[in-house]
Amino acid sequence: AKTERLDKILSHMGIGSRSDIRKLAKQGVLNVNGQKVKDPGMKIDPVNDLIQVNGEEVKYREFIYLMMNKPQGVVSATEDHRDRTVIDLLSDGYRHFEPFPVGRLDKDTEGLLLLTNDGKLAHNLLSPRKHVPKTYYARISGFVTEEDGEAFAAGVTLDDGYQTMPADLSILRAEDGDSPVSEIELTIREGKFHQVKRMFQAVGKTVIFLKRLSMGPLSLDQQLPTGSYRELTADELELLI
Ligand code: URA
Repeated sequence: AKTERLDKILSHMGIGSRSDIRKLAKQGVLNVNGQKVKDPGMKIDPVNDLIQVNGEEVKYREFIYLMMNKPQGVVSATEDHRDRTVIDLLSDGYRHFEPFPVGRLDKDTEGLLLLTNDGKLAHNLLSPRKHVPKTYYARISGFVTEEDGEAFAAGVTLDDGYQTMPADLSILRAEDGDSPVSEIELTIREGKFHQVKRMFQAVGKTVIFLKRLSMGPLSLDQQLPTGSYRELTADELELLI
């Protein structure tokens, strides 16, 4: 079994800093397998050893998986000099796990963002070879037509010369007129920088609102208010792993 320092495990679980844990040991309220802990730096097996603080079991887990409905105005990074990040929205209890966003949404894009500290899962979802589909809802300034859909299905050339892979456009509402606004859903299987915005730019239109609805088998919970987050359910996690 893999062993780790007890104080490290407990701070990872959000119990307190290393010095807090030293105090708990001094107070004699820290037990491992029913034995009072003398050395908070002792190595234990977090999966199989029983840890108790004040007689209460500390449930160990290595990974967390959070679904966020990202709001506009925060960046999907772990740190930023200027802007608030999606990590700043999390409670301390979750921040201790040091989660990071799986992929990026622009500062002004809303919707589904998965946050985890499971690097392997993140890698699988982000691997360009896997072509994990991502579906977006967008409002477009312009009259979106079936021809745009055909262009996206064939692939369009972005401003840097990149040719996009086939994407599926479905037009929810399109109006003609002086300042038309259309509503669409678009599924892409790659994730170039600003891809959706640049695809519409390639057909002469502008994205005015963008929200991610799904990523692979994971769909945004419609009950989750913008700016909030929750842990994935067991069923959702099963879909991803
Ligand atoms: N495409 C974009 O242009 N922006 C996003 O945030 C995601 C996809």
